[in-house]
Amino acid sequence: MSIMLERDQWVIVAHWASGVHEGATWLVERPEDGAAAVRRSTRCPVCAKPLAFTVRCVRATRARRSLRWAASLACLAVPVALFGLTAPVVALSLGLGGFLAYGASREMGVSLRGVDLRHAVLPT
Ligand SMILES: [Zn+2]
Repeated sequence: MSIMLERDQWVIVAHWASGVHEGATWLVERPEDGAAAVRRSTRCPVCAKPLAFTVRCVRATRARRSLRWAASLACLAVPVALFGLTAPVVALSLGLGGFLAYGASREMGVSLRGVDLRHAVLPT
């Protein structure tokens, strides 16, 4: 199930510690449809580290979501069409296609900038 996209999007800024996410909700204002992505920042509610996010408009987020779904379906279908229905091909297709489908289902147009394994932005 896809995440509901709204102009004023509630998300959870989460801190990963001891196997659980702790965090707080954060209201993110998106740019107008058609406008470029913007940078927003907040502090982690647990460790107070400053966190920067890229925030996309609703239309751009829907486009990214559609592109991810298309890539997912292509990864499911193209290897089977090219190499047949063999166990390694099916496993590769399901693995890669499933990974991309998971990303598409969670695309909400608010992404943490940089590599930070301790923090995440999650749907409410
Ligand atoms: Zn933190």
